[in-house]
Amino acid sequence: MNGIPAPRRPTRTVHVGSVAIGSQYPVKVQSMTNTPTHQVKATLGQIERLAEAGCEIVRVSVPDEAAALALPKLVAHSPVPLIADIHFDHRLALKAVEAGVAGLRLNPGNLRSPKQVALVASAAKDQGIPIRVGVNSGSVPQDLLKKFGEPTPSALVEAALRHVELLEKKHFSDIKVSLKATDVATTVAAYRLLAKKVDYPFHLGITEAGTAFTGTVKSAIGLGILLAEGIGDTIRVSLAADPVEEVRVAWEILKSLGLRRRGVEVIACPTCSRAAFDVAAVAGKIEKRLASRQAPLRVAVMGCIVNGPGEATLADLGLVGTNKGVLLYVEGRKIKRGTLAEMTAELLKLAKKK
Ligand code: SF4
Repeated sequence: MNGIPAPRRPTRTVHVGSVAIGSQYPVKVQSMTNTPTHQVKATLGQIERLAEAGCEIVRVSVPDEAAALALPKLVAHSPVPLIADIHFDHRLALKAVEAGVAGLRLNPGNLRSPKQVALVASAAKDQGIPIRVGVNSGSVPQDLLKKFGEPTPSALVEAALRHVELLEKKHFSDIKVSLKATDVATTVAAYRLLAKKVDYPFHLGITEAGTAFTGTVKSAIGLGILLAEGIGDTIRVSLAADPVEEVRVAWEILKSLGLRRRGVEVIACPTCSRAAFDVAAVAGKIEKRLASRQAPLRVAVMGCIVNGPGEATLADLGLVGTNKGVLLYVEGRKIKRGTLAEMTAELLKLAKKK
């Protein structure tokens, strides 16, 4: 696609359970539960909804003993590999490893004792599970904040490298790194900087990106810039919303760059006074009715014959408004003309068969 995205930055491969992460593999989609982890039923329910939406790895926070105790059950029943998110207390990381999680995320800003990190590295190594060094602009170590004045790209990179060195000292190299800031420019600059220094896979994210609307825009721009440059091996979109939305947005980002294909992709015109039917309503209905679909399918929903036939010809299925009813396209060919209700029903029937 015209050099976009650029070839992936070469990295090592890391396995999170059955999911391979690195430049040899498609960029993976992650999200995080927001239920209290110790509430097993609620958390498993959310993990299942995330997996159905296409989430390939789920992270759960482990803030206390009760959460750690819930992990064995969550691991046993989760349809996707689970990563334990650990802050402050290395003993919770050790418990998570024991519980059988497929990976750990450690925060170098609040887990800094070399001795404690060494203990966690050794336990993770014994179990063959990776560790993500997850730096956040909100929890950069104090000495680096003093040195750089604020969480600059260099501060984030130094925080990560310091932690990576602690792990490497224990001959641990099953590492992923993330450098999340709340603003796009810092995040992008930080990942670019670290990309020149290490060959570990990167987990991308804009941290605390905001509500569904602003966070989606911010994440699409930040992650989009990096992914277009070939940087990034797994992504998490952070939204102050239902995490299922994070997964939907992540997939749209990957689809927009042609990095992955999954489920229905609706091409819909913005409409104007020429539109022969309510394109937004029909496109929304089709998206909703085909939301659980996993196999790729491109559907064009176009208001009139200005751009309609062109787009419908390029799609697997298409609807085009005319002043004499709606045209149905199948695999690039005009098949039928009928009322909007008839043609929409027929398209949905065909989509389900495909
Ligand atoms: S396809 Fe037709 S209805 Fe849709 S925006 Fe273009 S001109 Fe308007």
